[in-house]
Amino acid sequence: MDKQQRTGELEKDDRAGLFCRLAHLVFPYLEPAGLASVSATCKVLHVVSKTITSSRISDASRNLENYPIPFFNSVDSELYANFIYSPVQTLPTSPSIPWGGGSGRVRSDPFIVRVEGAYGCDCESCDLDSSSNCACMDFSDLPTRECGPSCGCGLECGNRLTQKGISVKLKVVKDRRKGWSLCAAEFIPKGKFICEYTGELLTTEEARNRQRLYDKLSKSGHFSPALLVVKEHLPSGNACMRINIDATRIGNIARFINHSCDGGNLSTLIVRSSGALLPRVCFLSSRVILENEELAFSYGDTTVNSTGSQCFCSSACCSGILPAEHT
Ligand SMILES: [Zn+2]
Ligand SMILES: [Zn+2]
Ligand SMILES: [Zn+2]
Repeated sequence: MDKQQRTGELEKDDRAGLFCRLAHLVFPYLEPAGLASVSATCKVLHVVSKTITSSRISDASRNLENYPIPFFNSVDSELYANFIYSPVQTLPTSPSIPWGGGSGRVRSDPFIVRVEGAYGCDCESCDLDSSSNCACMDFSDLPTRECGPSCGCGLECGNRLTQKGISVKLKVVKDRRKGWSLCAAEFIPKGKFICEYTGELLTTEEARNRQRLYDKLSKSGHFSPALLVVKEHLPSGNACMRINIDATRIGNIARFINHSCDGGNLSTLIVRSSGALLPRVCFLSSRVILENEELAFSYGDTTVNSTGSQCFCSSACCSGILPAEHT
């Protein structure tokens, strides 16, 4: 090989290297179908897209939670579910977050805004024991009040159990009839915070519009919407507060939790943080949960589905139909 030839080979190597680096930058933004089609074009791109696919399978949370939450499917060829992961509630926007592009946990919650004059404590740190003088814990009739932006304490405070991200090991497993489901990847004691239900926060009007659209899409083929409606009856008479969270496109792993007619193993908790604008919907284990057990709750008053599709919860009291929302 003469000198000129060698230089030519080097340039070729450089170009291949650059090509590969560019692919690594661009591919994380591609949808599964796009990724599959570029993968088929040449060997280099096939290798890059394979790496990206396996990182997507290994963590549904895109590295935004404390532990990776992997996908497992021994039922069909769908390797993972495609959605935009958000560990916190979001506004109905179009964020472009690359798959596998998260680096450490980001919890900039747009709704954790300090409300002027809002109730909070002045503690430097708050303890959950009875000797605590924390003003946030004086609400004995409101056990779901946590410290928040109007408090003196920080995230290490003991009264912020649902604000530190998911701290139990979970996995997303494909079920032959129910589709994707959320399962425990370790033993979970009773009363443990599992996760929040995050997604796009909608007005009731927006939620109804989307519900209609999703009903149409569900009828015309394979489509699994994840629009959760939580109705909270306020102590003052007949007042009812409605929270609409759509995790169909943007959300966290709570979108995979299926319904169980017997109430499942999770309880829903509406958590208010002192000084925060809006409450959050959280899930706690209502009993001991064994490793590999599926997590489920009763949609009951909350709703994810309006088509009245078949229920496969297989509990003794199964009604056969998923609860339906009449909007
Ligand atoms: Zn506190
Ligand atoms: Zn306090
Ligand atoms: Zn506080």
